[in-house]
Amino acid sequence: MSTVAGAARGALVVTGASRGIGASVARLAGARGYAVCVNYRANRGAADAVVDSILGAGGRAIAVAADIAREDEVLRLFAECDAALGPLAALVNNAGILERHMRVEDMSVERVQRVLATNVVGTFLCAREAVRRMSTRRGGRGGAIVNVSSVAATLGSPNEYVDYAASKGAVDSFTIGLAREVAEDGIRVNAVRPGVVYTGIHASGGEPDRVERVKAAVPMKRGGEPDEVARAVLWLLSEESTYCTGAILDVSGGR
Ligand code: NAD
Repeated sequence: MSTVAGAARGALVVTGASRGIGASVARLAGARGYAVCVNYRANRGAADAVVDSILGAGGRAIAVAADIAREDEVLRLFAECDAALGPLAALVNNAGILERHMRVEDMSVERVQRVLATNVVGTFLCAREAVRRMSTRRGGRGGAIVNVSSVAATLGSPNEYVDYAASKGAVDSFTIGLAREVAEDGIRVNAVRPGVVYTGIHASGGEPDRVERVKAAVPMKRGGEPDEVARAVLWLLSEESTYCTGAILDVSGGR
């Protein structure tokens, strides 16, 4: 665990930040002055590489392993962030999973529970810990939360992963409800809904090149880059969006 000086904006937890959209958010946040807690589930080397790139650019960061689907690990994640980086200013609930393309009639209960445990329960638990620290009602300084949903929440993902789409629908409802609940407590809660973005998540569905197939259905006729999502997330965290809460921003090329 290593840190350098700087990071005037306070601490930011980014879940699932060792690769993909989360890694882009972590690197951009480091460059913008957040002290970044790079959460990862298993790939220590990849998380360390994200931390090193933030440190190399003069920022401040640590890597912390935690499975966000487990309450004990979420509690430890936030405790380690408090101890190393100081008061929490923001959370990006980025970690998410999907499983192989399958019709609902073929899904096992274990699969559905795994998807909901990370995408919904994990998002809920991390947000709870962030609110406990940031709420002015509880002595905190306020802050911002951005949840990473998906356009799947509006499309439903038939024949691919309706469980995943439903989990992102829950993230959207959670964003609206929590935003209204803590609006008077100095905390803004917003979401981004990415479309198809070039990351490793599509291999989990059994189709690593899914973006190439689906992009014809995107009005802009292309997939998105992780940095294009990260810039929207950083805007929602920033003082450029101080009157936005409960907003869900599609970052999807018009899809
Ligand atoms: P990714 O698979 O590259 O990254 C997801 C990261 O989350 C991985 O590093 C993974 O290890 C981590 N993670 C998964 N479960 C975890 C857990 N229980 N605890 C801690 N970490 C965990 O995929 P990505 O595309 O970068 O996805 C990031 C977010 O964007 C996800 O919420 C995903 O649903 C969402 N999203 C992605 C796309 C896309 O096309 N790539 C589209 C819409 C939404």
